[in-house]
Amino acid sequence: IKVTSAQFVTSAVKAADYPAGELPEVALAGRSNVGKSSLLNRLMNRRGLARTSNTPGRTRLINFFLVNGLFHLVDLPGYGYAKVPASERESWRKMVEGYLTTRKTLKGVVLLVDSRHQPSALDLQMYGWLKHRGIPAVVAATKADKLPRMRLLQSVKVIRATLSLTEGDRLIPFSAETGLGREDLLEVIAGWVNG
Ligand code: GDP
Repeated sequence: IKVTSAQFVTSAVKAADYPAGELPEVALAGRSNVGKSSLLNRLMNRRGLARTSNTPGRTRLINFFLVNGLFHLVDLPGYGYAKVPASERESWRKMVEGYLTTRKTLKGVVLLVDSRHQPSALDLQMYGWLKHRGIPAVVAATKADKLPRMRLLQSVKVIRATLSLTEGDRLIPFSAETGLGREDLLEVIAGWVNG
């Protein structure tokens, strides 16, 4: 698909604040600082659309973006930021679990993991949980430009093994710097929102 328009719609904490209507949705999940805002901006080819920052854990709301007037991309708040107190982790869990379990229009989730690191326990938990609930998921390995080609291939293997991906499960190396993986990821998203 070609992205012709992308705009911020609204931020939400609870279901009553989600946009009304029947538009299909695809959500982005991953730990803080994994490169979620950068991926979203690159996907939409809009630099300032999602905020990027070096301050992990700053985006604590569910942000909805309308793409081509046809579907929503949903930026879920990042997890796993060590300095966040337990009470805040709990409100994160409620917010994200609430979204993922109740949103009828949700068609799939892009789980972002850093291509340079083995997925964390929280990544594993999230991926397993999505699988368990039957929510279609694709893994995007971010910041792929930071690794030389051979290291990236090795890393992809480690990520696939750690998350127990099977042959049919997709993992897309992605770079917000170079645009690597953009077309592939858009294709997966298009399949979800059109299917
Ligand atoms: P978020 O917290 O998950 O939204 O992460 P950000 O998008 O704010 O990115 C965190 C940091 O990683 C920022 O300094 C980005 O510039 C950097 N970053 C994100 N994606 C890439 C990428 O594809 N390549 C490189 N080299 N840096 C990236």
